[in-house]
Amino acid sequence: MTAVNRTDLEARDADDPLAPLRERFELPEGIIYLDGNSLGAMPVDAAMRVRDVVRKEWAADLIKSWNVHDWFNLPRRCGDKIATIVGASPGEVVAADSTSVNLFKLLAAALTLRPGRRIILSETDNFPTDLYIAQGLNRLLGGEHELRLIEDGANVIDAIAEAGDDLACAMITHVNYRTGWMHDMAATTAAAHDAGALMLWDLAHSAGAVPVDLNGANADLAVGCGYKYLNGGPGAPAFLYVANRLQDDIRPPLSGWMGHEAPFLFDTDYRPAEGITRNLCGTPSVIAMSALDAALDVFMDADMTALRAKSLALTDLFIDLMAQECGGPDGDWGFTCVTPAADRRGSQVSFAHADGYPIMQALIDRGVIGDFRAPDLLRFGFTPLYTRYTDVWDGVAALKDIMQTGAWDAAQFHEKAAVT
Ligand SMILES: *Cc1c(COP(=O)(O)O)cnc(C)c1O
Repeated sequence: MTAVNRTDLEARDADDPLAPLRERFELPEGIIYLDGNSLGAMPVDAAMRVRDVVRKEWAADLIKSWNVHDWFNLPRRCGDKIATIVGASPGEVVAADSTSVNLFKLLAAALTLRPGRRIILSETDNFPTDLYIAQGLNRLLGGEHELRLIEDGANVIDAIAEAGDDLACAMITHVNYRTGWMHDMAATTAAAHDAGALMLWDLAHSAGAVPVDLNGANADLAVGCGYKYLNGGPGAPAFLYVANRLQDDIRPPLSGWMGHEAPFLFDTDYRPAEGITRNLCGTPSVIAMSALDAALDVFMDADMTALRAKSLALTDLFIDLMAQECGGPDGDWGFTCVTPAADRRGSQVSFAHADGYPIMQALIDRGVIGDFRAPDLLRFGFTPLYTRYTDVWDGVAALKDIMQTGAWDAAQFHEKAAVT
């Protein structure tokens, strides 16, 4: 590898066809933001939209807004935009609730669709809320299911085959939140179908981060997050996907009125709405969902294939620069890259380091924002919509300085905050 220098990267930024997308975001001066995988940066349009929803819609048009500004169909309209990002058809995705709640809804529906089968398959290293939801649901259903956890995600297809006709649902997160390891969606889904089971994908670290083809993979069910790579804002509504072929069979466990066939008939009895809408529960958070709706428009003007190419270029560059500038993944300074090669990589890079926590705090103090995941991971998300090649250089340069000077070891950086 020939050494890279900052001038080379200035040229790459100047040639980057995606560079203008950065102007769609409001980013603080002097900050290098490598945490869009935890909370996406704020799209300028989202801020303007929230202002309009509050002042022009809520304040001025009051309750008429449900019709006049079509608040009522906002979950479906957002869903259709998300569908284009995750390879689904119109009417297969709806924005609603949180990822955790959507997991509950779809996992419960899946278990009902596979009566008599006991096993829910997931990974030890899945994001904990996914496991907690499965545990809570199992308890609610009388504890008759087994949450079987795979230690190494690479073995998921074997584990599916092993569970065989006792497998009800494989509930797998497509891109691992710690390591950035990405599953083969088509092959894993096919294995679940061979076992006669349903496949439920969590796209929290995939939607807007990597090209996803739910229809192409013949996926059954999926959920995903609105506030990470989709940039919908803190606590943005999440989304859920149900393949067309399954929609009429879904019996929503949270049978709220927004999923009723005719909510404004105020019937005594619940009858599920047609299609994806039955998976709604209560009234959506209109202000938050409007922000998400505006944020999604950035993606309507971007091409996921081009975004993927830049994401891989940025993550490759980061890994190479860490080797060049920071003693190498296994070098003197003790950084070990735990993120796989390009074909199995999401849009993040993580390094294990025994002093990961104070090092990350020192880096954040320098204006380079990544995050820390216990016990020892420094995690960096790369969002090709607004991250520049020179940002990667400057981020690594800051880390190098922190290591060289020992600045990371100051007492203030060892204090643990509530949110890491
Ligand atoms: C971020 C994330 C969630 C978040 O769930 P919330 O209900 O939005 O808090 C769930 N699952 C995975 C895999 C995640 O990465």
